Amino acid sequence: MGAYIHVPFCSAICHYCNFNRGLLDAALKTCYVRALADEIRRMSDQEVVVDTIYLGGGTPSLLDPHELDAILEACRGAFRLAPDAEITLEANPESVSAERLTAFRAAGVTRLSYGVQSFRDEELRRLGRLHDAAGARTAYDRARAAGFDNINLDLMMWLPQQTVAQWLESVDALIELGPEHASLYLLELYPNAPLKEDMARQQWSLAPDEDAAAMYMQSLAHLDAAGYEQYEISNVAREGHASRHNLKYWSDGEWLAFGCGAHGTRARARWCNVQSITEYIGRVEAGQPPVAERRILDAEAAGAEAIITALRLTRGVNTDQVRERYGIDVHQRYAAALQPFLEMGYLRVEWPSIRLTRAGMLIANEVMQVFV
Ligand code: SF4
Repeated sequence: MGAYIHVPFCSAICHYCNFNRGLLDAALKTCYVRALADEIRRMSDQEVVVDTIYLGGGTPSLLDPHELDAILEACRGAFRLAPDAEITLEANPESVSAERLTAFRAAGVTRLSYGVQSFRDEELRRLGRLHDAAGARTAYDRARAAGFDNINLDLMMWLPQQTVAQWLESVDALIELGPEHASLYLLELYPNAPLKEDMARQQWSLAPDEDAAAMYMQSLAHLDAAGYEQYEISNVAREGHASRHNLKYWSDGEWLAFGCGAHGTRARARWCNVQSITEYIGRVEAGQPPVAERRILDAEAAGAEAIITALRLTRGVNTDQVRERYGIDVHQRYAAALQPFLEMGYLRVEWPSIRLTRAGMLIANEVMQVFV
């Protein structure tokens, strides 16, 4: 079982961000951490072994070390925490001092995930990020000095005005630092994103679609050559360093969820907590469950979800497993719909698995439509 813990506070709001987050308010953060620890304690179940914890946000590195301690202590008290549990903390480069990183490590964090996004200052400014490239490198060195031996760096591609060569500059800068893990995301602009307005005002444009495809393919080729192994559409890792927590999302796993807007899944149940920070605190303080929505999937829906998420993995969908768990014969039921993708080289059958090729990953959403 995994545990996802949402920390919704940020020092500034990035111009493209559509996550569930708000500006840091120290008093509110104190109440929130207390509510989180309460929610975790209320879910206490000594039968449950938790082997991954993921603190995502927002900016979880804005937690004070004693707050992080309180949250992790609540987890240790409520569940059986595996001795080798992977405990990930998302962090922004500007939010970490050497002392804080040392304290986070001492609290039990085993994996640090930095939102770097770019190693080009001009791009970071356009995104409204608070750090620059030098700050990202300093934060990385500090994490190493604090004893972190499992670090992820996030990068974002297809930024306004970004050329393929400029994107590859960031990828090569990441390779030079040598983290154990890297996540490469495509910038997604939601309708009212301030970045969209900036783009209109400044006449910034996005590179054409073929360049976005070239960015994806060429960056993965650079990472392949540097010894990283792609294991998911957007994720690569050095051997043995794939994110154990995130793998649960793509391999029909189970995870508990704590904090505002957090989504959990257990067996066929799916639930999510209320989005609002204050409503979340209010509900927990009043002794009410903070769950906003809960549904139970039937075998068909759960099977389709398992297939679609597993398609994101380079190892693909294990169709034997899908048949055993959900009674769905993927080969028989979807043969006709999948045939064109197989013929065009976007899909491959490696019995009993079906997997996207790298070219197929560029059109993954189209392939996934077959199973919706
Ligand atoms: S730091 Fe992350 S969560 Fe916070 S505003 Fe920026 S992108 Fe959003």
